[in-house]
Amino acid sequence: MNTVRDNLLAIKSKIQKITEKCERDPNTIELIAVSKTKPVDLIKQAIDAGQLSFGENYVQEGVEKIQHFKQNLPNTPLTWHFIGPLQSNKSKLVAEHFDWMHTIDRFKIAQRLNDQRPTSMAKLNVLIQVNISHEASKSGILPDQVADLTKQILTLPNLKLRGLMAIPEIENDFDKQLHVFTKMQELLNSLQSDYPFMDTLSMGMSNDMKAAIVAGSTMVRIGTAIFGARQYL
Ligand SMILES: *Cc1c(COP(=O)(O)O)cnc(C)c1O
Repeated sequence: MNTVRDNLLAIKSKIQKITEKCERDPNTIELIAVSKTKPVDLIKQAIDAGQLSFGENYVQEGVEKIQHFKQNLPNTPLTWHFIGPLQSNKSKLVAEHFDWMHTIDRFKIAQRLNDQRPTSMAKLNVLIQVNISHEASKSGILPDQVADLTKQILTLPNLKLRGLMAIPEIENDFDKQLHVFTKMQELLNSLQSDYPFMDTLSMGMSNDMKAAIVAGSTMVRIGTAIFGARQYL
């Protein structure tokens, strides 16, 4: 069986190869290890292999892991990304513990996170989640609503709006993946003319990382290819 270290090395060399092909600097792509449902000992293996950024989908589980590593590895500068859907009544835990929040899809949740972010902490980095495949079942806002939500979020002093995030409909054809991710890149480009500090495109998972990077992703969120398949109880 491959170890977490082997898997991380394989992903990094894959990112390296993709960026060579599309002439991007590999250092402009951050690898987020998605550790949802995975135990702290596997996360520790990733940390020992040099991985410092992690993504979690469930608030309580994520906070427990953050606290675990704060106690056990107080000098290791880990970065925690909340990447799951967020209910209003759990926003306080995200505001108090995470460094990034990827799934802002309404002003109300942004306002709550802003009000609940302790002023002793750095601003919470946030991304607007875009429903780029126009899926009825998916969360995120439609592309034509992004400009308005951007303006609203920029009034909130404890949040730092960094860009956009998407989880497109599952699609195995590369050209179709690329088509959807390119729409995200165009959307971010259009915002950057007014807001050049928006520098982040969070897109790309284990099965569509290549198309995401070719289309300009700056954060890939990889779970299965690092930690193995997830088992849900
Ligand atoms: C689970 C999850 C991932 C990781 O998916 P894999 O297919 O395991 O790489 C990435 N992003 C989000 C939002 C997720 O929920």
